[in-house]
Amino acid sequence: MESQTNKCPFCTIEDGFVVLMTETAFAIKDGYPVSKGHTLVVPRKHVANLFELARHEQLALWDLVERVRERLVEEHQPDGFNIGLNDGLAAGQTVPHVHVHVIPRYNGDVPDPRGGIRWVVPAKAPYWE
Ligand code: 5GP
Ligand code: ZN
Repeated sequence: MESQTNKCPFCTIEDGFVVLMTETAFAIKDGYPVSKGHTLVVPRKHVANLFELARHEQLALWDLVERVRERLVEEHQPDGFNIGLNDGLAAGQTVPHVHVHVIPRYNGDVPDPRGGIRWVVPAKAPYWE
């Protein structure tokens, strides 16, 4: 476990990236943001899967997602959000320490935003066509 956390970018995050902290979780600026304000909400416990967390830790994570969202609304006035997580390698997870992406979205940031997270499988995303 020690070696896993030593190599984990979230367990070794620099203070400059941390935007909010609670007893069980913290929020950090994504190092490679897909939009202005892209933030990750991370439990202090190094586990890969959301459901390895106790229920109170899951709820604390969600509380922090709400606080992060409110903060981003004030800071950047986005027009929408994509909020969610990649659960497992097959689903695109690249860092094996649970994190919820809070991605502010802005009118016009992509030509046609319809479908949002459905674009994880591009060929199936546009069901309206
Ligand atoms: P995943 O693909 O696991 O859902 O997302 C991993 C996220 O972590 C990506 O959005 C990526 O930009 C971010 N990330 C990866 N390494 C670092 C890092 O060293 N520092 C920060 N702040 N974010 C990172
Ligand atoms: Zn970690």
